[in-house]
This record gives sequence, C-alpha cells and structure tokens, in this order.
Amino acid sequence: MTREFDKYTGHEIDLLWNGHTHTEFCKHGDGAGAPLENYLEQAIASGFKKYSVTEHPPLPKGWLNDPVKMCQLAMPEDQLENYFLRVQKLKRYYHDRLTILSGLELDYLYGKESFTNNMIDSYSHWLDDAIVSVHFLPGRDGMYCIDWSPEDLQSNLLNYYGTMDNLVEHYYEHIEMAIQFAATLPFNHVRIGHMTLIDKFRRVLPEYDAEKCQVYLKRMLVLLKETGVGVDVNSAGLRVHTCGDFYIPEWFFHQCIQNGIEGVFGSDAHKPADVKSGWSWYKSAIDNYNKK
Ligand SMILES: [Zn+2]
Ligand SMILES: [Zn+2]
Repeated sequence: MTREFDKYTGHEIDLLWNGHTHTEFCKHGDGAGAPLENYLEQAIASGFKKYSVTEHPPLPKGWLNDPVKMCQLAMPEDQLENYFLRVQKLKRYYHDRLTILSGLELDYLYGKESFTNNMIDSYSHWLDDAIVSVHFLPGRDGMYCIDWSPEDLQSNLLNYYGTMDNLVEHYYEHIEMAIQFAATLPFNHVRIGHMTLIDKFRRVLPEYDAEKCQVYLKRMLVLLKETGVGVDVNSAGLRVHTCGDFYIPEWFFHQCIQNGIEGVFGSDAHKPADVKSGWSWYKSAIDNYNKK
C-alpha cells in the first residue's frame, strides 16, 4: 500500500481521518439536530482529509421493549434512504476539500444478524464504510442498552447478570461475536466501535476486575489480528464524566499498531463542536508508540 502525505502538513493522509461521526438523523446526544454541513465544515477547519459519516441505522421492530429508547437510538426505517441521499449530495459538494465516506455505525444484533446483512445488501451501492458496535446485551426479557444511563444498566443488566464481573465477561463475549460478524462484511476498513464502551459508567458502578478485562482485551487482539478487523479509536468516553477515558486503552492501541491491526480515530461526534475532540490524545498515543 502506498502511503499518501498531505502536502501542507506532511501528515499521513489516512491519519487525518475521522472515522466515526453522526448527523441530524441521530436523535440523541446534547447537540442532536445540527445539520451535517456544520460537521463537515468543522472537519475541514480541523484539518481532516477523510471523514466517515456513520449514523445509527434503523433497528429491527421490537428490538427493545421500550419504544421511547427505540425512537431515540435509531432513525425510523423510512429515513435510511434520505440519509444516504443526503450524504451522497454533500459528498459531491465537498469532494475537492474532504473525502467523505458514506457509512453506518452498525449494531451487533445478537440473534438478528440477518437484519443487518439484508440492510447492507439493499444499500451496498451507497455504503463505503462501516463500524460494528455492541450497544445491547440480553437481559431478563429482551435486549437492553449498556450505555443509556447507570440506573438503566443497573436495573436491567447488572441485576440480571448478578455481578459486574459477570456482566463484563458477557460484554466481551458479545464483542468477540461482533468481531466475527464484522469479518464477514464487505468493507475494507471495517472496525469495532468503542471497544471498551462497557466502561462508560465505570466511576459510578461497583468495581470490577481490571486484570480480567486485560485478559479479555488480549483475547480480542488475537481475534482482530486473525480476522483483519480494525478498531475505532474512540474519544467519546473522554467527554463522559463517569468514564473520563478513550474507549480503548493506550496499551491496547499500541498493541494494535504493533500487530498491524488498523486503528482509526473516531470522535463519535454527536454535535459539530466535538468533531476534533480527543485528537491530541490520539496523536500523542501514536507519538508515544513511536518513541518506544
Ligand atoms: Zn449515537
Ligand atoms: Zn456507538
């Protein structure tokens, strides 16, 4: 693969890539509703050369028992085509300033993987890029979010799994299935979204065994290397006071670089002001690796 460098900054072009961002088609987050143009202008001003728009696609009907959460977490099915048309239009408009990839943040839908496969088949002509994320785990009577609120996690998942250690173990089992699923998808740079999202409410939940987490993550490294699936080096956790960290530990990112596993910066912006958020952490993590 030839490496391409920006003629002004000298930075490697693929480094100037934000691989995880949202749009006005997303109904959650405190800045929800800002038009995609505002994100793109922000991306150009921030120096990005490549930009993946990765909205949450529709979920299968009845995926969650709670209809309110369903509405906020994913666009309705009849909006998906409008979403792609809008990205196509702006992709053409900005083509000489920013390489825009039309993508999705796919959910790993445990037991309903075919829903995602069918969606990809139907829209393959518009799909350039994809992230696969684990946002849901099975609970007592259906699927529940791991990242809605600490109270929600506590009553619907922690009570069901009994201990945080047990819950975390199941989370990584689902990450493992998500990696295997991602490996079957027709994308060159498919990545696992926010690998350590289970840590979102870490500071307000009962403690869990950090050493075991390391063991799970090391297992994921082996699987990522085997399958060729990459990781979303996701900064959103830095902005969440109950987490305060990237959703990927620096040592893990370094191991990815070491093992040739692709790690793409993702600010997971749900508002334009967050497009570059966490970029300096990402750059310094790479510098720290190069210094070793
Ligand atoms: Zn979102
Ligand atoms: Zn996500």
